[in-house]
Amino acid sequence: MIYNVAQLLKANVGTVQRVELDDADELDLRENEASLAGPVEGQAKLHRTNQGIFVDGIVRLPVALDCTRCLKSFTTTMEFPLREQFYPTIDVNTGEPVAPPQDDDLSFPIDHNHILDLREAIRQNLVLALPVRTLCKEDCAGLCAQCGKDLNEGPCDCAPEAGDARFESLRQLLELPEV
Ligand SMILES: [Zn+2]
Ligand SMILES: [Zn+2]
Repeated sequence: MIYNVAQLLKANVGTVQRVELDDADELDLRENEASLAGPVEGQAKLHRTNQGIFVDGIVRLPVALDCTRCLKSFTTTMEFPLREQFYPTIDVNTGEPVAPPQDDDLSFPIDHNHILDLREAIRQNLVLALPVRTLCKEDCAGLCAQCGKDLNEGPCDCAPEAGDARFESLRQLLELPEV
């Protein structure tokens, strides 16, 4: 996920370098986001542009998430596109500093040693790709609201109480799929 792009920066605009995403360097995921459950895979094309380098790729990333209904941890593979601008901070030919672009919050710096590091871009795109509700399976039955039993393992012995129907409609309201 970390590449020396000195040669690509010296190449003509329009030059493309293909790279495989490898797992040599761990992503720095925050605790509340997700945790990695296997190696990062994917491919990217690094395009030399007149501004710097445009990265266009696909990332596949196994992550461990917690089900929002039954609270169990499960593993799923997130796949998402990676399309980001990177800009040089040092001119590769003269060694002079390069001013960051006007819209530098939309792009990522290439460091002084011409190292392009995809990790932060991958992390940000992963966070955007994560669903708000994470379900271990589409029809996860969740936990009993009274005894806490995992209803995926079978029904519990709780007697249905008055008010359950109202609770159920509230639950359905809260779990309406996003539009
Ligand atoms: Zn579940
Ligand atoms: Zn119960």
